[in-house]
Amino acid sequence: MRPHVFVNVAMSADGKISTGERRQVRISGEEDRLRVDAMRASSDGIMVGIGTVLADNPSLTVKSEDLRRRRVAEGRDENPVRIVVDSRGRTPTGADILHRGSGKRIIAVSRAVPESRLQALGEHAEVIVAGESEVDLKMLMEELWRRGIRRLMVEGGGTLIYSLFASGLVDEFSTFVGNVVIGGASSPTPADGQGFFSEREFVRLELQGVVPMDRGVLIHWKITSP
Ligand code: NAP
Repeated sequence: MRPHVFVNVAMSADGKISTGERRQVRISGEEDRLRVDAMRASSDGIMVGIGTVLADNPSLTVKSEDLRRRRVAEGRDENPVRIVVDSRGRTPTGADILHRGSGKRIIAVSRAVPESRLQALGEHAEVIVAGESEVDLKMLMEELWRRGIRRLMVEGGGTLIYSLFASGLVDEFSTFVGNVVIGGASSPTPADGQGFFSEREFVRLELQGVVPMDRGVLIHWKITSP
């Protein structure tokens, strides 16, 4: 068993999620920010790759005090469990995700991480070891299910999202498309990694909705394959 996984990213009109230097950029506006906050608040866990932690240093907390209060009234932590996928244990121990806001944190690593590093990370988060040299995402998902995570939101980046698609671990995919062009062959996109080489491998989607928002558009898909 694994959690229901929904991926949410903001991209430019030309399909980029940040600049070639991997600098965080503002693509959406206030309405989308509120929507993302509500999605966070409705989740049991929020996952990002280590690339996003190193590039953006996000805290991934629920920003609305009202939504945090509602979670507590339901007997949940103020914030969903925040999860970093980090094969080599590179999460800085001072990262905002480990310090901002209350609630649990999980760092998922591979067996390649030395004991001393596991201990250092273990002072700030629960550490899950899954996979030999890279985090085994299927194994991780099963472990997250065992820990009670039923709804998992993934907020990036493109390398992690591609791996999740390639492993058949995504159920829903939302992209906010903003009214900017970022350009650049090396600028990250919502699904990077090595990509699929044949049409047979493509992940197939079914359109669920298109909503004009913040001078851009929100597109919501359900995954129909594999
Ligand atoms: P990422 O997807 O956040 O993290 C990728 C890293 O995760 C990999 O390099 C790998 O590093 C680790 N990892 C561990 N196990 C993995 C597995 N099984 N599959 C895939 N990755 C695994 O990094 P990114 O692609 O560089 O994306 C970061 C960029 O995305 C930044 O520029 C950020 O600003 C942007 N971003 C944009 C949005 C948006 O909505 N616009 C959202 C988030 C991020 P190790 O091998 O070291 O573990």
